[in-house]
Order: sequence, then C-alpha cells, then structure tokens
Amino acid sequence: TDAHLNAIEAARVLNAYVLETPDQARQMAQAADAQIAKGGGGPLAGIPLGIKDLFATKGERTTACSKILGDFTPTYESTVTTQLWRDGAVLLGKLNNDEFAMGSSNETSCFGPVVNPWRRAGSDAKLVPGGSSGGSAAAVAAGLCLGATATDTGGSIRQPAAFTGTVGIKPTYGRCSRWGIVAFASSLDQAGPIARTVRDSAILLRSMAGHDPKDTTSVDRPVPNYESAIGGSVKGMKIGIPKEYRLDGMPAEIEKLWSQGAEWLKAAGAELVEVSLPHTKYALPAYYIVAPAEASSNLARYDGVRYGARVSGRNIVEMYENTRAAGFGAEVKRRIMIGTYVLSAGYYDAYYLRAQKVRTLIKRDFEQCFDQGVSAILTPATPSAAFGVGEKGGADPVEMYLNDIFTVTVNMAGLPGIAVPAGRDSQGLPLGLQLIGRPFDEETLFSLGEVIE
Ligand code: GLN
Repeated sequence: TDAHLNAIEAARVLNAYVLETPDQARQMAQAADAQIAKGGGGPLAGIPLGIKDLFATKGERTTACSKILGDFTPTYESTVTTQLWRDGAVLLGKLNNDEFAMGSSNETSCFGPVVNPWRRAGSDAKLVPGGSSGGSAAAVAAGLCLGATATDTGGSIRQPAAFTGTVGIKPTYGRCSRWGIVAFASSLDQAGPIARTVRDSAILLRSMAGHDPKDTTSVDRPVPNYESAIGGSVKGMKIGIPKEYRLDGMPAEIEKLWSQGAEWLKAAGAELVEVSLPHTKYALPAYYIVAPAEASSNLARYDGVRYGARVSGRNIVEMYENTRAAGFGAEVKRRIMIGTYVLSAGYYDAYYLRAQKVRTLIKRDFEQCFDQGVSAILTPATPSAAFGVGEKGGADPVEMYLNDIFTVTVNMAGLPGIAVPAGRDSQGLPLGLQLIGRPFDEETLFSLGEVIE
C-alpha cells in the first residue's frame, strides 16, 4: 500500500486519480495485516485497488467525474466495492473516467483528461488511455494500483484495457450487481475489473460478482472460482472468427494481430471456424439510440435538489435549468438531447423501438453461433492503438463513437467479453484482442485469454 501511495504521488501528471485516500488506505492495510497475522484475511487481504469514480464509496466523494455531482459524498457503499472490502482489499482512491462514463478517451471528465502512460516510440505526444474507464486502465498500467474496478456500457472496460496493455473483462449482464454504481444505460451497464494479468482479473472478478437482491437484474447463480479456469485445456474448443469484423480500411497491424491470436489458439489445440454475425453493421447506430435513451431517463434525477451542485434561479424550473446547464458537460448534454428525442411521442417507434428490434437480431446472431458449437469468438478489441489527446471527436462525435465498433455488440447481447494484450504496433503501442463468450461462461474466456496473453 505504501509503495502504491508513493507511486500515485509521483505520477500525478497522469491525472489517473481524482481523489486519493491515503489515510483510509493505511487503515485498511493495517486491518488486513492484523487479519493475516491471526491466520485469517480474505482472498484479497491487503491488495491495494483503485475504484472508478462511478462506484459509490461511503464517506468518500463520488462524482462520476461530473460537475453536477459536486462534492456528493454517499452514505452508502456499492455492492461491488462492499464485496472487495469484505475480501480484504484496500482503497487507494477514486479513479478518473469520462463524465457519466460517456466517452472513449477519458476526455469528457470534469477533472480533465487522463494521460496514457504509454508513448509512441520517439515521441513525447500525450496519448489517451481510452475510455470511459481511462483512469482505471492508466493506473493499472502505470503501477498505481494492483487492480481497479471499471464499468462497461459499450466497451469502457475492454477498449481502455486494449489501449494500455492491461486485461479487462466485462462479465455477462447480471453477473455483478449494479447497485451503488452511477447509472448510465441500465440495460447495458456492467462492472468488471481491469488488471495486469488474466489471473489477476479472474481473482478480482470472483470477489466482485454475485447475486444481490438490491439489483433486480443481478442473477442468482453461484460464482465459480474463476482462477481455476486458468491453465485449463482449450483442446477441441471451436473458436469463431466473424467475417463481418474484417473492416475495410482496418490497419494491417490489427489484421495481423488477429491472425496471430488465432494461430496461438490453434497451437493450443482449438479449432478455428469462420462465423457470421450479419447484423454487426447495425450495432453502433442502434447502441447510440438505446444508450442515450436510457441515459436521458437516468440523468433526470440530477435536478439540483437531490445531489451535489445547485445553481439557483428565480423559481424552481429555472433552478433545474440553471443547474443542469452548468452541471453537465457537452457530451452528456448531447446524449440527453438524443435520448429525449428518440423517446418522444412520434419518434419512439421510428427510433427507439427499432433499435430494440435490432438489438434482438444482434443477440440472435450470437445465439446462432453458439448453437453451432462455438465456445468463444475472437475479434480485435479496437480498430486502432491509442490515439493522441485532442486528436479525435472534436468536430465530429461519430469519429469517437467508431472506436466502439468491436465492443458494443457484446453489451447489446449481454455477453461476457475480455480484452487481452496481444502485441504492439509498429510504434510500440499495445494492441489487444477480444474474446466473446457464452452467457455466464467467463471461465472459457479466462482459459483462452491466458493462452493469448
Ligand atoms: N464509448 C461508449 C460511449 O461513449 C461506451 C462507454 C461505456 O462503455 N461506458 O457510450
């Protein structure tokens, strides 16, 4: 814990932490030491972690990196973090993220961008760590924690993991409780870990997962010991390679990495089969209807009364307007406007309902693959390596949205997906591959992920 607190202090330029909790950390570490000395201590006793600022932490400021939450300090603890503390983990602080987890570069945070600890060979240009869990990924990559919590609505665990050479798993929808996590798009949001290795991510997920009656979408199924899946045989497993993921204009380096990953799995005894996910091309447009629709509804609660910041006005309506105008950033406002529009009378059927139908088709594509005996699907995690701070999405938000092209389908279908570091590009930046699994079969992803890492 001390070593990590020192490292955090020395690496403040990365802007990975938005709140450091050294006193709390030392106290928790001492408590863990005492447990260990008595021959006890949970599976994470004394392991220092960073927590994405989307998770409510009792008595510690939680902002979702939005001005509208101000100094909001929850009087409750999220279920996921409660379980981590139960198992002995130590809180180092809260990690930066895109405002309300809306973004792919961690540039929409009210605390400013996170800097990726990686640089292009021979260049000092600052790169983004990906988003929205950019602080989590950068902190793990830079050794500012042993692991971190993150959330993934459309790729926010897997894309930043790929950009920073770390491992990120989004488990099956319902595997981790969403209780106490600031809601973005409730039917897509899932928590998961970002860690240095596949094994570390398996250990962390075991503590994070589990049924919680306080989240009605959380699933009541036993949590397996994911770590024991590591080193498990992948012989005879059928791995699907979806032809629709071969994008025109995809960098040759990504193509090469993808083939390389397939070769590694083959060498370990897996069988590769081409599969088709014909509705892939509709996933991104459908996601950018469903996610903003749910967000516009979830964000209605920030009214200047219940949480954090308030800007007064001559009457209550003006107070709402002033608070929301000053409290939300540009990307969040854009999503609220899109979401409100697609849910409004007259447009609901044309946009929202249609997007939900497309979502069902996307889900069926995956079901058909799995019905053919496919155990997992291998794809690139991202269409490029990390890009520069300020480089994308300025005038054209869609340019930024395209980053999610390989990851959003997984959320739309509620499936588990893992991003594993698999190589480097010609400039030395990390590149990741993604494995997509059957519902609640995270174990297969850990077995296969370990072959690739
Ligand atoms: N980048 C996507 C978005 O902006 C996904 C974000 C996420 O997974 N939280 O919506």
